[in-house]
Amino acid sequence: MSRLITLPDGRSVEIDCVSCALTSGLISSTGGVIFESSNFHVHQDRAYPIKGLVILAAKRHFYCMDELTDEQQLEFISLIHKIRSEQRKRLGIDKVYYFYNEDTTHHFHLWMVPRYEWMYQFGNSVESLRPVLLHARNNMNDDENMKSVEEGVRMLKEGMRDFVSNEDNNL
Ligand SMILES: [Zn+2]
Repeated sequence: MSRLITLPDGRSVEIDCVSCALTSGLISSTGGVIFESSNFHVHQDRAYPIKGLVILAAKRHFYCMDELTDEQQLEFISLIHKIRSEQRKRLGIDKVYYFYNEDTTHHFHLWMVPRYEWMYQFGNSVESLRPVLLHARNNMNDDENMKSVEEGVRMLKEGMRDFVSNEDNNL
């Protein structure tokens, strides 16, 4: 199923899969790429300006957890662990919500959404996720917050520099 998206420069392009477009660099994410290997691509979601929110997407086009190869399974959990520790170390993020669904038009990607104090006005647990994301998308696009989000991307990018993926280990 293809959809029409608007690029930051105002152009509209029709793409089949937003994850493919993002991980191939056709469309860019806020602050640029946090980390990429031959299997995965880590970025801030451009639609939801929350500092330290990370999307960990596969580069290959597939949807289900059981389609990860053996090598990708290992790298996936190592990446989650590394991203999580950098969120804590560099951004002081105390709790993270993880979510992932297979029935999506975007291919395989895991959301890592930091839990901040202001989010509790939308509820105490997973039921607050959707309202939190909508609030961020609709009300947090101001310059000050965008700068803070981009700063978060820079710090995570720096933190990911010493990540050694298993593809490197196999060389
Ligand atoms: Zn795709």
